[in-house]
Amino acid sequence: MYTEIKERNKKKYYYRVKSIRKGEKVDKERVYLGVNLNKNELKAKEDEADKKLSGKSEIKIEKIEEKPQEKQERKIEQPKASEKKVTFNISKKDNFSDWYTDIVQKAELGDVRYNVKGFIVFQPWSVLSMEKMFKYLEKVLQKKNHKPYWFPTLIPEKNLKLESEHIGGFTPQVFWVTTHGNNEPIEEKLALRPTSETAFYQMFSLWISSYKDLPFKTYQRANIFRYESKATRPFLRSREFHWIETHCAHANMEDAMKQVHEDMNTTKEVLHDIYCLPFIFFERPSWDKFPGAERTFATDVLNPDGKVVQQPSTHLIKQDFAKAFNIKFKDKDGKDKYVWTTCYGPAVSRIFASVIAVHGDEKGLKFPWKIAPLQVIIVVIGNEKKVLEEAKKIKSELEQKEISCEIDSSKKRPGDKFYFWEMKGVPLRIDLGNRDIKSEKLTFYRRDTMKKDIIARKELLNYIEKTSRDIDKNLIKQADKLFDNSIINVKNKNELKKAVDSGKIARAGFCSIEKSGEKCAEVIEKEILASVRGTKLEKEKPEGKTEKCVICGKKASSVVYIAKSY
Ligand SMILES: [Zn+2]
Repeated sequence: MYTEIKERNKKKYYYRVKSIRKGEKVDKERVYLGVNLNKNELKAKEDEADKKLSGKSEIKIEKIEEKPQEKQERKIEQPKASEKKVTFNISKKDNFSDWYTDIVQKAELGDVRYNVKGFIVFQPWSVLSMEKMFKYLEKVLQKKNHKPYWFPTLIPEKNLKLESEHIGGFTPQVFWVTTHGNNEPIEEKLALRPTSETAFYQMFSLWISSYKDLPFKTYQRANIFRYESKATRPFLRSREFHWIETHCAHANMEDAMKQVHEDMNTTKEVLHDIYCLPFIFFERPSWDKFPGAERTFATDVLNPDGKVVQQPSTHLIKQDFAKAFNIKFKDKDGKDKYVWTTCYGPAVSRIFASVIAVHGDEKGLKFPWKIAPLQVIIVVIGNEKKVLEEAKKIKSELEQKEISCEIDSSKKRPGDKFYFWEMKGVPLRIDLGNRDIKSEKLTFYRRDTMKKDIIARKELLNYIEKTSRDIDKNLIKQADKLFDNSIINVKNKNELKKAVDSGKIARAGFCSIEKSGEKCAEVIEKEILASVRGTKLEKEKPEGKTEKCVICGKKASSVVYIAKSY
């Protein structure tokens, strides 16, 4: 029970009011949330409490450091390292939004207190994981012959202006750099890259001259700046994010489309097989294409709250771009031709949001083995020297096999340590005590199944090798389940609303995915608060429930998928 005094931007203190019946033990306990209460105000509180208890008791007020746990109350401030809460217990299913906000803070993934709106500080626990995510993604791209580049962060305005659709689409989101020093103008207006087609393409025109140069496949790892007007959320949407962008040039449209399919496979190999995330690829309708693209294909990952999150997209770019930037090559037949370009943009910091959201549970984070910021934690039980020595030995054995391992020999209670590392999502924990050393056994705890395994000491490496594979298989299986029964056929607006409101993806007939269908899409956005995600790659024939447009009732030309999204 709290009495709240609502006042913003003032330091808050909490006071426990003990009401003690004369000659008896504590009878009732109340907690007041006070804002800079002075002595007189405190006295008033005492009197107020006393009055409520009709003078039958003595009231004692003591200042306490922290508000006690109460189910409905959410602590908003980031905990200081010294007063870190080690337990985490929020239902992801019932309250995803709070769950997400809290785990980002408690696990110290990102600090939203940085004083530029829409920008966050990425903290070690997220950076260590995202570094691994980048590593696997780059490895696959390099294997497929993409060459790495580092392009400047600044792009001249004149480059962006060369392709009208592109500049039109991006202008509202561009951060411009126009001055230096004491507000003196710079030579030309520059953009902080909102994406880098126009940086790469002007160089492509210098580097590509013959069909022998094609396909020309590049990528860069970069941070991207976009002035988002929608509400920002850590990792999911912020004004600076970290991604990989690939830019490729091809001799003809067929080769370009092959690249688009290769990008889709890359997404499967990395997002599904390594990050353990399930997704569906959709071709976006014409009104939702990348500015300047002929065709846009994008993945949607299903969030536990039933909304979808757009993840990597790959685009067949209109040849207008090659013409604007004069990217020509001499073909085998001796003729000068314009290239076809493609680009693919897996935003690692945004994919990380899905890793958190899809795998976590009420106890905190869960990481797939390969991208865990830390793979094994050894919790030392007791303080005997030989236990710590054995822990160090295990750590060094694991590190030789490139398995990351830390030792927790802090003075916290074992239970607190267990909760803490559960919350942090470390896939494997070893609880090491004197008894284990005597019996030459090791006690492992798996974060994904919450189960214990006791193994022989000599089986250490074999066990980890096998179990790490099992962990990822299990996470993929659990995540794939998200999509089970999540798609529902609908035939009218009512059914559509019911489906998306209950967190499902609706499959519906649609009049047109070209310009003429945009009106019906707008109805969906305004009235249902959902969006048309697009069509499946293998075109589906409208029939039965999907015969007619779910909005206007005209004969359907396509089957589309509709969902709420971030
Ligand atoms: Zn329609």
